[in-house]
Amino acid sequence: MDAELAALVCGRANNRCEYCQLPQAHSVLPFELDHIIAKKHLGETTAKNLALACFYCNSFKGPNIAGLDPKTGKLVQLFNPRRHYWNRCFRWRGPILIGRTPIGRVTIQLLCLNNSDAVALREGLIDEGVFPPFK
Ligand SMILES: [Zn+2]
Repeated sequence: MDAELAALVCGRANNRCEYCQLPQAHSVLPFELDHIIAKKHLGETTAKNLALACFYCNSFKGPNIAGLDPKTGKLVQLFNPRRHYWNRCFRWRGPILIGRTPIGRVTIQLLCLNNSDAVALREGLIDEGVFPPFK
């Protein structure tokens, strides 16, 4: 992947994970460029199919493109940062991420966005006054 494309993706995301909103500056592990539609599903390495993701979100997401809504059990596509508005799908309740929509709920579930380590990190960032990015 070329450096110009990587810089575009990082800048477009304002150096935050496009799933959990963690600022890259507050992550111990380097962020990664996520193929929103994985290569194994014929996703291309283009700006419209790439998202900036923290190590944890990218690891939990893997090649998944959908999951089962924990509320309804229905198959639902994952949040796509290029197609969906983050604020329409998610909201914060303190350090806990809440799904506003089936897409939000299934993404939180599959990417383990409220795991105890992530919540503890967010609590610290909230105390520092640097999180969440959207109030
Ligand atoms: Zn993340």
